[in-house]
Amino acid sequence: MSQSKQPELPLEALEAVERFLSAPAPEVPAAVLQLLGIALHGNRRPGLMPRLFMEAVEQAPVAISITDTAANILYANAAFTQVTGYSQGEVVGHNESSLSDRSTPAIVYQTLWGRLLQQKSWNGMLVNRRKNGERYVAELTVAPVLDSTGTTTHYLGMHRDITEMFQLQQELQNQKELIGSVVDVAPAVIAVVDEGGEVVLQNRAYRNLLAELQGRDPAQLLFGAPRKDGAEAVAPARELRLDFPDGSTRWFVCLLSRFSTRDGSADAYFTAREVPYQLLVAHEVTEIKRQQEEVRMNALRALMAEEALGRGLRETLTGALHQMQRPLNLLNAAVGMLERRSDGDDSLLAVLRQVRDEGSAAVETLRASVPQEVQEPLLPVNLNQLIHEVLLVSTPRLLAESIVIDWQPQTDLPTISGRERRLRNLLKQLTDNAIEAVAEGGGVHRELHIASRVEGEFIVLQFEDSGPGIAPELRFKVFEPFFTTKGGKHAGMGLAIAQDVVNQHAGTLEIDPAYRDGCRICLRFPLHSDNLQEE
Ligand code: FAD
Repeated sequence: MSQSKQPELPLEALEAVERFLSAPAPEVPAAVLQLLGIALHGNRRPGLMPRLFMEAVEQAPVAISITDTAANILYANAAFTQVTGYSQGEVVGHNESSLSDRSTPAIVYQTLWGRLLQQKSWNGMLVNRRKNGERYVAELTVAPVLDSTGTTTHYLGMHRDITEMFQLQQELQNQKELIGSVVDVAPAVIAVVDEGGEVVLQNRAYRNLLAELQGRDPAQLLFGAPRKDGAEAVAPARELRLDFPDGSTRWFVCLLSRFSTRDGSADAYFTAREVPYQLLVAHEVTEIKRQQEEVRMNALRALMAEEALGRGLRETLTGALHQMQRPLNLLNAAVGMLERRSDGDDSLLAVLRQVRDEGSAAVETLRASVPQEVQEPLLPVNLNQLIHEVLLVSTPRLLAESIVIDWQPQTDLPTISGRERRLRNLLKQLTDNAIEAVAEGGGVHRELHIASRVEGEFIVLQFEDSGPGIAPELRFKVFEPFFTTKGGKHAGMGLAIAQDVVNQHAGTLEIDPAYRDGCRICLRFPLHSDNLQEE
């Protein structure tokens, strides 16, 4: 059949189409109606129809066929010839099944005919074979044509070759699956976040982390809020620690890069729109960090032992000075009294003066030999990290005393500006006090609970031990210098110094009077303390 020649449409088919158009079944896809409706140009009068219909249908880019109720073809348009390779003459009179590749499952045809027998249209995919034997994927719509009595008289078929689209879709799907499976098995934590901060793609390592963080969003914890336009395409890698609800700490090196895709919606067809995303990649470096920390902890242990020695010496000497100052004061008072009474030539007065002067000189010498506190700069300090270090250093003692540690850090605790060594010593002091209290209490429950959290504008640290607690009348006295309930080797300066360090950081230290199961000490540090002085 030559394509330029107008094909003959049997009158009965033409009438059938007209009937179909005047009362189309409700399920007939809009595409079918649109295509044939256009042919009428809004005018459904039968007299106008044949020529206009023929022109529109014949020129339609979709393969259109009209069949009898047994699917024998009565008419096929030019596009049908183009898609199938069969001329009109070759298909008219033949059944639509001659297009079947036989690889389409029987259930597809059963569904198609099931719908047609209910006088409903059907739309779906099947595999057809062209005249030259080549297979193609056809997207087919079939619809019944009814007469005035409601009886089906014909069927209308419309199909498109969607092989290329199918191939593209498959390739895209394969690529997605390939990338997806490579990303999924990668040991790094990977996520893609859209401009609204939603995680739109994540891998297995990310999902595992999400479960371990008990639902807290790893993207938010590791990378913070999504960055706005103008930020650099690849941010420098940064190292970050995450404290887990089970008390463990893990380290990650986080890399963040930005990329954008083209918006695929019709809105962006003429005016291309970029859709920005962020690619988040986090490598866990906990093992390396642990090794580094081991080395650091050994150095820290040595440093803390040295500091404890210095502190002990300072406390002992300060205590001795305190004790020496008392008789010296008495001596001073006695000299004063004698000076007022005598005429100045008193041998006892002379002796007392000499003793006083030598005593004062000795006190001054001693005072000068008290080791001074090391000066420290103000730096951003992570209190979780300091507690973690103190607990590591204290592990042998905790084990020896069979004390169970319950450490509940807030996962993303902000830093405060502070003096790291002093704060660490403060936390060590409180831990040591708690260990001693539990050990001396000798109770069945041997526990130390430590927690950190943010409360409003403060970081709150809580130390709870299951020891005997502090009697209400001693609640304030224990902070006095040289006060100790333990005697012996204790100078009674621990809590006094602790209080001093807290004051230096504009914080508060309080013994909870309501706590009955031991001792609970609450520390509060302001998150933003602008008035801390450099030394
Ligand atoms: P068939 O023996 O034709 O039928 C398979 C199933 O359909 C069986 O369950 C059978 O009972 C049922 N069935 C068949 N004919 C009728 C009927 N007249 N009334 C009730 N049930 C029936 N098929 C394609 O493969 N490619 C096409 O492009 C295509 N286009 C079509 C366009 C139209 C307008 C219509 C009406 C049908 C079209 N078909 C097409 C379906 C085609 O007619 C065949 O049903 C199909 O090809 C399967 O052929 P078959 O010889 O394997 O099985």
